Amino acid sequence: MECVNHSNAEAQDRCTGCAEPFCHECLVEVVGEKYCGSCKVLAVKAKPVLETGMEPCDEANQALILALVSATVGLCLCIGVFLGPITIVRGAQAWKRISEEPRLLGAGKATAAIIIGVVIFGLACIQLIAAAAHRGN
Ligand SMILES: [Zn+2]
Ligand SMILES: [Zn+2]
Repeated sequence: MECVNHSNAEAQDRCTGCAEPFCHECLVEVVGEKYCGSCKVLAVKAKPVLETGMEPCDEANQALILALVSATVGLCLCIGVFLGPITIVRGAQAWKRISEEPRLLGAGKATAAIIIGVVIFGLACIQLIAAAAHRGN
C-alpha cells in the first residue's frame, strides 16, 4: 500500500475522511483520528462544536420552566410571592453554574428566568398589597 501523495512511500494508515492510504508525513491527527491534508481542513471545521462539548445547562432549563409555571399559576393565585423568589434563586444557580463552566449553554434562559421571577414577585406583592388595602377599606 503506497501513499497517495508519495508513490515511493509506504502508507501508514488510511485517512478517516476519504479512506485513501497515506504515509506518516501526510497524515495529521485531529481529535484522535487520522486525516490527510485536504480532509483535515474539513475535519477541523466540522469538529469544534463536538470537541468543545457544548451542552445545555439543566438548571437553566428547569429555571425557565419554573418561571413559565410561576407566570401562569403565580399571577392568579398570589403564590407568586413564593414562586417568584424560588424562580429567581433557581435562575441565579443556573447562571452561576454557566459562568463557572463556559461550555454550558443557557445563560439567556437563566437570565430570562430571573427577570420573570422578579416580575412575578413584584406583581404578586402588588396584588397582595392591593388586596390588603381593599380589605382595610
Ligand atoms: Zn482524506
Ligand atoms: Zn505521503
